[in-house]
Amino acid sequence: MEQCQKIIGISNVLTSDFDKKPFLLDWSKRYSGKAIAVLKPKTTEEIAALVKLCCQQNIAITPQGGNTGLCGGATPRSHGDSVVICTTRLNTIREIDLDNSTITVDSGAVLSTVQETALKAGMLFPLSLAAEGSCTIGGNLGTNAGGIQVLRYGNMRDLTLGIEVVTANGEILHGLRGLRKDNTGYSLKDLYIGSEGTLGIITAATLKLYPLPKSKATALVAIKNIESAIKLIDLARKRCNADLTAFELISTRALDLISNQEKNWSSILNAKSGWAILLELSSMENSEYSRSQLETFLTEAFKLEFIDDAIIANSIQQSRDLWHARENIPEAQLKLGTIIKHDISIPISKIADFVKDTEIKLKARWPETQTIVFGHVGDGNLHYNLAPIATDDSLSSMESKRRAINELVHNQVYLYSGSFSAEHGIGQAKREELPFRKNIVEIDLMRAIKKALDPKNLMNPDKIL
Ligand code: FAD
Repeated sequence: MEQCQKIIGISNVLTSDFDKKPFLLDWSKRYSGKAIAVLKPKTTEEIAALVKLCCQQNIAITPQGGNTGLCGGATPRSHGDSVVICTTRLNTIREIDLDNSTITVDSGAVLSTVQETALKAGMLFPLSLAAEGSCTIGGNLGTNAGGIQVLRYGNMRDLTLGIEVVTANGEILHGLRGLRKDNTGYSLKDLYIGSEGTLGIITAATLKLYPLPKSKATALVAIKNIESAIKLIDLARKRCNADLTAFELISTRALDLISNQEKNWSSILNAKSGWAILLELSSMENSEYSRSQLETFLTEAFKLEFIDDAIIANSIQQSRDLWHARENIPEAQLKLGTIIKHDISIPISKIADFVKDTEIKLKARWPETQTIVFGHVGDGNLHYNLAPIATDDSLSSMESKRRAINELVHNQVYLYSGSFSAEHGIGQAKREELPFRKNIVEIDLMRAIKKALDPKNLMNPDKIL
């Protein structure tokens, strides 16, 4: 550790159990690990020197950003043979190039800081998710994060033009190009994005910026039935085209969780079918235009009997309240005790059949459980979660069902041509199952890539593969 202290200073090498603790437990408190030390470098060169040192001494490394990941990817394994390299001190905004519509930032920059910096320059960085006040650009890249505006702007991979990486042997890959066209062989950038820290440490990125919309219109809509969600998105795409920026499904069970005395969404919205959609249009026109576009679209949806009821936000504050409620669902769920979560994607055309069929199969085997479904249905991404009906149902009772419930839900996902990991990644949560969910050619190629880029298997071992 002395050599690490020489590189980054004594105060940035955390070795006491007390100091290390917050870095060794994940956000959901489901995964915990051990580490020799937590290292907090400030520059790319410091990270490169630390990785070289670890490589020489065969010490494994777990990269960590804001530690908000939901698959245990940023938690070191329990062997106690690794170090955590936490990037949060590496947080400089390097450059904004307005003419190129790009921003270049260190990977430890917090997502909300990047959004705010873009905003101050009159631009939009569109990645948006509930953990944006804590998660980092490096973590967003490591997991290829999605969130609520993928429908319009794409996920982190789509938003990234170039990256800088410290490779597994401590070399610096300088790839901070702000080019929208660059066909010069294999896309190394795309290999590192979504690799969950298993191939190297991303230290900076050049990201796309967009013109800031002048107005937004938000509505919470009660749909006739789950099939109507699909009809409604089709109509929204046809009528509103690129102005449709978010389309979130919320079951009334999820709506109940975020309803309180102050704002009781469940009683305000008449969602008889058990399903609601939170949708947003944003436009380069003024707010009257957006409002009228939304009203025209919703009127048509009423006439076509896709929807039963709608609340249109009358102010920016009301729109914020709606989004705040939506973002609170993951935390509100924690009140229900043990939750069995699934971050899945299904082709949009098959979502209704998947939801109905899976509910029937789950109820037949576990009538004592309830599904809490919400998610970015415009991208085909559902957070399909199960909780006990009675909150006093013991933790161990729900835990004992976890494996079988996961198996049933994931089998259903593949029956409907989906994926068992939409946006959160594999980490350690889905590692064991991955070889059964991808074909052997894919797994063999992934292993070959890992071996080529990290021959000593020191970068975040026991994650993904
Ligand atoms: P960490 O948790 O620190 O790390 C995540 C993974 O990335 C780990 O495998 C880690 O090793 C790796 N990593 C971290 N930094 C680097 C780096 N510099 N280089 C290489 N690898 C690195 N995710 C979504 O996609 N969409 C959502 O809508 C969403 N909503 C969320 C809501 C809540 C309330 C919470 C708690 C989480 C949510 N997430 C969501 C998950 C999480 O916020 C994202 O995965 C986020 O991108 C993780 O960023 P982080 O900095 O916290 O990464």
